[in-house]
Order: sequence, then C-alpha cells, then structure tokens
Amino acid sequence: MTGKLYIVATPIGNLEDITLRALNILREVDLIAAEDTRQTLKLLNHFEITKPLISYHRHNEEVKSDILIEKIKKGENIALVSDAGTPGICDPGESVIKKTIEENIEVIPIPGACAMINALIVSGIETKEFCFLGFLPLNKKLRKEKLEEIKKANKTTIIYEAPHKMKATLEDLKEVIENRKVVLARELTKIHEQFIRGNIEELLNKIDDLKGEMILIIEATHETEDSKNEFECLSLEEHYKYYEKQGLNKKEIIKKIANDRKVSKNEIYMKFIKKP
Ligand code: SAM
Repeated sequence: MTGKLYIVATPIGNLEDITLRALNILREVDLIAAEDTRQTLKLLNHFEITKPLISYHRHNEEVKSDILIEKIKKGENIALVSDAGTPGICDPGESVIKKTIEENIEVIPIPGACAMINALIVSGIETKEFCFLGFLPLNKKLRKEKLEEIKKANKTTIIYEAPHKMKATLEDLKEVIENRKVVLARELTKIHEQFIRGNIEELLNKIDDLKGEMILIIEATHETEDSKNEFECLSLEEHYKYYEKQGLNKKEIIKKIANDRKVSKNEIYMKFIKKP
C-alpha cells in the first residue's frame, strides 16, 4: 500500500510550541525528511524520538523529491520538516508536495507555528486581508517592483528579512511608505521576543544593532483614487483650512496633510508653515 507524506510544522523558537499531533506523527512515520538533519536531530532528541533522517533542502529538492516519492510508493510514510516553522513557507517543501499531488499520493498538513502569522496577529495592523511577500528580492529591478507593490497595496503586507539586511530594507521602504504604520516583530516565542512599532522613520531610529530573526508588518495604504484626487485639487492653504475648520491644532494639521499627501511632516512644515 502507498504511504503518505506529512508536512509537519515545528517550533520557531519555543519548543513547547510543537503540537501533540506533530509529535505523534514524527514518532509514527518511517522516515523524516529534514531541511537540516542536525537541526532536526536536536528537536528529536529533546522529545526522545529516534527516527531515520534524510536531508531535503533547497539545493537537492528536485532529486530528493523523486527519492521520497519512490519510498512513499513502496509504502513508507514520510514526514517533511524544515528548520523552523511551517515547511513550504520560505522553506523547502513545494517541489515534493507538487510531485506528490501529481502522483496521487496523499499529502497531509500537520499545523503549527508559522512566524508570519504570529507576527501579524499581534501587530495591531489589519488582519482581515494581507499579502505575504516572503523575502524581498535582491535584484534591483525586481526589488523596485516589489517596493512599488507595497506602496500601492491596499492590504497589510508581511515580509521576512535577515537581521543584517533589515536596516537597508527599511531605508528602501522609507522612500515609498514613510508615513504608514509598521511593526517589526523580533525573536518570536524566544526569550528576547520584541515588537517595535511606529512609522519607518521611527523604526530606523529605534533599531541600530538589532539581532535575531525578524519580520516586518506594513499597514495598507489609505490612498484610494478618490482620496488622492480629493486633496490633489486643493492648494496647501486650502488643505490647511479644511482641517482648521475641524478644530485641529497646527501640529495635528501638519500631520494630517503629510499623511494625505504621502509626504513627510517636515516637507509640509518647510513648504507651508515657514513660508514668509
Ligand atoms: N518556515 C518559516 C515559517 O513558517 O515562518 C520561515 C522560514 S524563513 C527561512 C526564516 C525567516 O522567518 C526569518 O528570516 C524571519 O524573517 C522569520 N522567522 C522565523 N522564525 C522567527 C522568529 N522566531 N521570530 C521572528 N521571525 C522569524
């Protein structure tokens, strides 16, 4: 009888975040395919599970997928795990999953930790609709396209980033989404778990030498075609009066205008308030 492929989520830091079902599956399968066998061995040792391991990582995905499928066809049940979190989410898994489906083999998800979902749910930023972009591309052209996508996104955007690249990514984002709310979620489920909130500028001031794993949650744009046009046809003076009539003070008005026009508060201050 053909076996099954289980896609098993593992903790993203705190080992208590593994589910009972995940532990049972890891105990019951014939073989565990792991992104990094040494990493998975630590997890298995912690839970006193002894099981044969086979490596399955980004650089051998294609070849190993075929080997795994052959084994499943012969009746072996296999669990696929990545180093942390949910396989297939910025981690290997996609190739063997696609091939398994093509071969009419059952593929079963075993839910558990996923960093982006946990960052999102406590971000305080809208969770109703969101777009996960994974890691931003390094290629200049592709990166610019993604940044433009984020600029126009009318839903929450989530990105993963390596700690040593976070500052550069925030600098790039600053150009396109200065006034939008962002949350940096760091070291989720670990001792130094931290959430840093603010706009990009504020975040840049707060994160000089941050280490650890991190995720960025970015608020959707509030700029609809209607709202854009509404303010485009007003002069700065008219825009100012519009909020003045609502009883807002100077500071609040500058903030509002900057937000409506997607420019920095300083720019409005310089252009308008300091005008002779
Ligand atoms: N498969 C994983 C998941 O389910 O989230 C993601 C793996 S991806 C290779 C690694 C990236 O996920 C890190 O660079 C970071 O952006 C994010 N990440 C993973 N664990 C995290 C944690 N404990 N805290 C914050 N971010 C984490």
